[in-house]
Amino acid sequence: MKILVLNSGSSSVKYQLFDMQQEMVLAKGLVERIGLEGAVLNHQKDGEKRSFQMDIPDHSTAIKMVLDFLVDNEHGVLGNIDEINAVGHRLVHGGSEFARSVLIDSKVLETVKKLYELAPLHNPPAVKGIEACLAILPGVPQVAVFDTAFHQTMPPYAYLYGLPYELYEKYGIRRYGFHGTSHKYVAQRGAELLGRSLKELKIITCHLGNGASIAAVNGGRSVDTSMGFTPLEGLTMGTRCGIIDPAIVTFLMEKEGLDVDDLNELMNKKSGVLGISGVSSDFRDLEQKAREGHQRSQLALDVFAYDVKKYIGAYVAALGGLDLLVFTAGLGENSPEMREAVCSGLEYLGIIIDRDKNQARGKETEISTGNSKVKVFVIPTNEELMIAKDTQEIAADVI
Ligand code: AMP
Repeated sequence: MKILVLNSGSSSVKYQLFDMQQEMVLAKGLVERIGLEGAVLNHQKDGEKRSFQMDIPDHSTAIKMVLDFLVDNEHGVLGNIDEINAVGHRLVHGGSEFARSVLIDSKVLETVKKLYELAPLHNPPAVKGIEACLAILPGVPQVAVFDTAFHQTMPPYAYLYGLPYELYEKYGIRRYGFHGTSHKYVAQRGAELLGRSLKELKIITCHLGNGASIAAVNGGRSVDTSMGFTPLEGLTMGTRCGIIDPAIVTFLMEKEGLDVDDLNELMNKKSGVLGISGVSSDFRDLEQKAREGHQRSQLALDVFAYDVKKYIGAYVAALGGLDLLVFTAGLGENSPEMREAVCSGLEYLGIIIDRDKNQARGKETEISTGNSKVKVFVIPTNEELMIAKDTQEIAADVI
């Protein structure tokens, strides 16, 4: 089965074409600057990258171009577009309506549109991508895979905020959690690597990238996660503030005369490790600066590591124990220093990492010592493969 995975953003479309028999990527790429000057399609096949500048006014044109490239004599990997058996679309927000991936029909699209308010920047372009695909590939099953779906198993006491209950009923204000596809993938992969059933494991998954979140996974079900109503909650991130005292918002409105837009900008774009260090949101830069003696870069790294450590402690309590701790995403996969800083002091919980094994970067590795009660793994995330797997499973029922 061949599956096309699409991730449509406001001005971009990322794509990967999978051959599911070998779980292999046949081609992938990224269309950028859709609707803007200097639009470009970056296409990759057999490890060879090519860039093509063209006029790409909208998502429909972008997706048509991607499909043309996939069957192109020189750059393509398909003889015919009919070889695509199904398409999987990444959607950020499924609200409380979608607890799993679904086959897209008009009712699903209608429901997703009702959720625009919860993800105004992310869901509308994804729907544009879906609608373009439905028009170009009629009859090909299309599946929606939601970032929030994996966390829909959280119990009410984990997802409710201490606000008037009517606000939850009226606006759906609750914790939803994000990065679900990544947490699900690394939890499943972790169980596979351990050679144990996911059902019998207590796992904490740390997705540490520019956006960062942690999940507590019990028997394969997410029971808590650090991101909330929006992806702003939780850890201090690259540019996002994570948890702060909510009274700071009204304090700043009063003292600095900030309005809603100013505050959104401040908390989403100017805070996090960028705000603390005053230097960069990129952890590589911060590690470099800290080595050169820049104290606020070191402080930003310390804040981040301390946050992650606190969540791990909290989730061990939530799970009532721990079998496996997983690090993933840009920082989690590539920074031995951050992993060591997070795990140091957690020996009491049975988490002991091996310094040499912990030097691993970007590949599946066990980094715990032989006598560590909790296994600690680095597992590169693969959200696209997870989307392709869900799509395959759902499409198989209708093909
Ligand atoms: P992501 O959002 O998953 O792409 O992760 C991006 C973050 O990972 C950036 O802040 C990068 O600085 C960080 N990152 C990537 N590679 C490394 C590395 N080798 N060492 C430290 N941080 C890294």
